[in-house]
Amino acid sequence: MPIAAALEIHPNLQKFLSKKSHPLLIGGRWAESASGKVFKTHNPATGEVLASVSEADSKDVDAAVSAARKALEGPWSKMSPAERERVLNKIADLVEAHSEELAQLETLNNGKTIREAKNGDLPLTIGLWRYFAGWPTKIHGETIPVSVPYYPGAKFLHYTVREPVGVIGAIIPWNFPLLMAVERLAPALACGNAVVLKPAEQTPLSALRLGELLLEAGLPEGVVNIIPGFGPTAGAALAAHSGVDKITFTGSTEVGREILKASAGNLKRVTLELGGKSPNIVFADADLEAAAKGMFMGVFYNQGQCCSAGSRIFVEKSKYEEMVQILAERAKTVRQGPGLDPKTQMGPLVSEEQRNRVLSYIESGKKEGAKLLAGGEAASGPGYFVKPTVFSDVGDSMKIAREEIFGPVASVMPFDSVDEVVSRANASPYGLVAAVWTKDVKKAHQMAQKIQAGTVWINCYHFVDAAAPWGGFKQSGYGREKSQYAIESYTQLKSVWVDLN
Ligand code: ADP
Repeated sequence: MPIAAALEIHPNLQKFLSKKSHPLLIGGRWAESASGKVFKTHNPATGEVLASVSEADSKDVDAAVSAARKALEGPWSKMSPAERERVLNKIADLVEAHSEELAQLETLNNGKTIREAKNGDLPLTIGLWRYFAGWPTKIHGETIPVSVPYYPGAKFLHYTVREPVGVIGAIIPWNFPLLMAVERLAPALACGNAVVLKPAEQTPLSALRLGELLLEAGLPEGVVNIIPGFGPTAGAALAAHSGVDKITFTGSTEVGREILKASAGNLKRVTLELGGKSPNIVFADADLEAAAKGMFMGVFYNQGQCCSAGSRIFVEKSKYEEMVQILAERAKTVRQGPGLDPKTQMGPLVSEEQRNRVLSYIESGKKEGAKLLAGGEAASGPGYFVKPTVFSDVGDSMKIAREEIFGPVASVMPFDSVDEVVSRANASPYGLVAAVWTKDVKKAHQMAQKIQAGTVWINCYHFVDAAAPWGGFKQSGYGREKSQYAIESYTQLKSVWVDLN
């Protein structure tokens, strides 16, 4: 097997990867796509082909949506909430039992380091299943004391019921393939929906392996259908499908707009988690050692391929030079290599296309006059590596300070005052996350109020949990994933009136 790595591949994973091609999961059965077409998926650390995957298009989307509808009308809707909890817990147990091989698969297909896959992606994925496994027995309506002015003295019983939305179309990106899938699947299933999941074309494998585990856990057929394919074909067909009741999407703002347009036909509910250009703000009174780690991890975690990357780093002027140097020195010492090597600190970008895109942003930074302090080029050898890159003297209007790069590129800028940094931080069409580093409690909370973002981290970065809502302000999207608010968005409210007169 053409896998350059120091780590021994788990036997289950070897078996999974030895399949000639990976079929789609529709209606509880594994089948080739209607067209018979397959596409290749790669190991970004070497550029070599990892597997062939059936390529879904609109016919497969039709079949998957019908299977999901049938599941909704079948045994799935008849399962009690307690039974749904048991299935979800079983899934959590299975994912946990298989976490080593799933982490390796994530690393092989996405490029991320095995350390991040094991300590981040997998525990968070299991946490999502466990958190949402607790919900089915707690989803309930309310009784509301109603009055009817044109019927004085009349008595009514009024209550609300939370029902599943129906068929959910989930279109997800490649940066956290398993985590993004489960962020949708766990709440959707907790609420009794059925799902058609389209993984990103770059990273379809962990979702397919998860599909095997879902069937093993006893999830009824058709409740989850998994159809890898490309955005303009499979993705667009799913977004436009009249049999889909809700679309949940994470990806670029540009594609989010397309999804919204496509969903207008049958007025689907839509949740969008889109891009970001997040400010990471370091005040001079911060714990500078912690802030330095936070700057580094905030921008370089997952090779910078995070919608929440802290890619605009603002440092208060008196500490600016010092912090810029610390960041640049650390960037220069990062060990890059295949993610499966336990010594690797930063893996490759997900694809050649992504590497070229990131390199073109680096070129634009150089051209626009930013000062390059570290990195600034692709690493030599095979694979899609870009060296962790630090620019200082970045102007707010430069492309690298305005646009989402989705790669390991930090733009560091000085600031003088609270008001100035707030207005510069907020001068972006995005508003996904922000972080503030200071020991001054009052200032920290004032900043939390003033910053326009769906999540504000104080003296920390990249903390997420299944219980905490996640989503954006402004063009970073709308709706919230995770938490009780996901339960709201994967259910619809019914109002019931009973005449007691
Ligand atoms: P990225 O820039 O991170 O690759 P994209 O927004 O292009 O993100 O892709 C995220 C997901 O959206 C992927 O699953 C991709 O296949 C899908 N996608 C891309 N274009 C479309 C489209 N026009 N309609 C529906 N889905 C799409």
